[in-house]
Amino acid sequence: MTKRALITGITGQDGAYLAQLLLSKGYEVFGMARRSSSSDINTSRLKWLKIDRDVRIVDGNLLDLSGLIRLVQDIKPDEVYNLAAQSFVASSWQQPILTSQVTALGVTNVLEALRLVRPEARFYQASSSEMYGLVQNPIQSETTPFYPRSPYAVAKLYGHWITVNYRESFGLHASSGILFNHESPLRGIEFVTRKVTNGVARIKLGLERELRLGNITAQRDWGHAKDYVQAMWLMLQQDKPDDYVVATGRTSTVRTMCEIAFSHAGLNIDEHLVIDPAFFRPAEVELLLGDPSKAKAKLGWEPTTSMEDMIREMVDADLERLK
Ligand code: NDP
Ligand code: GDP
Repeated sequence: MTKRALITGITGQDGAYLAQLLLSKGYEVFGMARRSSSSDINTSRLKWLKIDRDVRIVDGNLLDLSGLIRLVQDIKPDEVYNLAAQSFVASSWQQPILTSQVTALGVTNVLEALRLVRPEARFYQASSSEMYGLVQNPIQSETTPFYPRSPYAVAKLYGHWITVNYRESFGLHASSGILFNHESPLRGIEFVTRKVTNGVARIKLGLERELRLGNITAQRDWGHAKDYVQAMWLMLQQDKPDDYVVATGRTSTVRTMCEIAFSHAGLNIDEHLVIDPAFFRPAEVELLLGDPSKAKAKLGWEPTTSMEDMIREMVDADLERLK
């Protein structure tokens, strides 16, 4: 029997790579996208991966419970991956209420739809290392206490715990993946890696002279999105649902990541990088460094791409796009 998967957030970075992975495994993939007045749903990432004709796009919004119930009734998915969110930390201070409605309560809407009409479906929640925030341990694992530092992280923490709660209350096969930052040529341009690789490509091609960033001393554990969607799928193949940290176990400063991008393009970082207070955040997450040993031991998951190779791939992709 062909398995059916429903992915919320299909138009985003992870939605595209996860759809590609599931299609390669023979799944029938339904991608939920929210309607907008421009008639075309933004399938540019699916097009980039040449899978836009293979994914069945369905209308839906995390804020609309009755629509979600209808979708689940119609599709009868075996697996549901909840990737949709207001996902940008910096915007969450500008839109804290929307962020909590979508990124927090939206998770309950999906879980309710499953509990009511499809309790046998397996569920994945896209949780985030941002939940560790003001880190309580220099290396963060599944047992490290959380201390969220932005409205986004507070909302994600709710999403994580409601997932755990539905598992414990109703016996749903619901897993929460605590994923550390993961990037790719399909990353949104507002996130720092892509802002840097796109900026470097623009400077290289003479379209721009400077790149303006905020706090470049922040440290992140960056991995490749293509690796990380594998871990999502593996979680739903386990007999028992659980929570897993997905990370590389290495951390680097924003500055180091920038240096790799500039040097790959043959540019001198100090001639172009400008620190701009406008990009500092009201509260910062200074250090993220994940311990992926549980994912390795139980899922057999390991990252395959180094941060250095990924940043070079992203610079090359941005140069190609701009040319
Ligand atoms: P993106 O920002 O690329 O994608 C977010 C998706 O959510 C988009 O498809 C967006 O649709 C959709 N969306 C937003 N609001 C709604 C809504 N109200 N109803 C339905 N869909 C909506 O994120 P990523 O692919 O990078 O990340 C996937 C998930 O993983 C997110 O939940 C993110 O918070 C989480 N995460 C990501 C990490 C990372 O480093 N990438 C790290 C840890 C967690 P539209 O195109 O219409 O805006
Ligand atoms: P996040 O970890 O989910 O917030 O991912 P981002 O890629 O948005 O940010 C990673 C880190 O880069 C944070 O510590 C930011 O403060 C820092 N940073 C520094 N300058 C910038 C910038 O101009 N844009 C973004 N998005 N982040 C920046």
